[in-house]
Amino acid sequence: MLIPSVKYSHTLLKEIIKPGDTVVDATVGNGFDTLFLAELVGTDGTVIGFDIQAQAIETTLMKLKDTQLDKQVSLYQQGHETVSSVISKEDKIKAAIFNLGYLPKADKNIITQGPTTIQAIETLMEHLTPLGRIIIVVYYGHQGGPEEKNQVMEFVKTIPQSHFNVLSYQFINQKNQPPILLAIEKKAKVNAP
Ligand code: SAM
Repeated sequence: MLIPSVKYSHTLLKEIIKPGDTVVDATVGNGFDTLFLAELVGTDGTVIGFDIQAQAIETTLMKLKDTQLDKQVSLYQQGHETVSSVISKEDKIKAAIFNLGYLPKADKNIITQGPTTIQAIETLMEHLTPLGRIIIVVYYGHQGGPEEKNQVMEFVKTIPQSHFNVLSYQFINQKNQPPILLAIEKKAKVNAP
């Protein structure tokens, strides 16, 4: 059966993440992805999580403690565009996930924004391991969403094929703007341009 973008994002992460890996949750929110990543990397791995809202960080921290997954997770209440202040130049990232948009059941005016989303993606691309993946689930039904979607889509189309594969996945016969999943995968070997 064809699966929705959110579920497929976990399939694409599960395929590559191994115990001990370092991964990033760029939009922690209610911690759905953070917990999933923490289980995959195990106690020898690291999950680095970002969200600008205290509510998101606090809720997720509580869930992590309740499930005893907090040891391998570091959460930062700051924008994902500041990722280079948290990881060092030589650090390698196996995977990262973004869920764009607003925090469900919270202030719909606090949303991810195209320029900062793109800045974070660009930085994370520099740290990806060969065959590492950045997954972006693009919600765009909210106010400000179409602008961010267009900016991110334009950006990912310019990513050089010599170094990365870029996938777009979306149901195209569904109502109410079903989310688009974008996956950026670093190639194992760099091809000649
Ligand atoms: N993945 C989350 C989950 O499992 O619940 C849902 C994330 S929600 C769609 C988007 C989140 O991005 C919100 O919690 C919002 O506060 C956060 N956000 C907005 N701008 C951000 C930024 N510049 N850096 C990091 N997080 C940001």
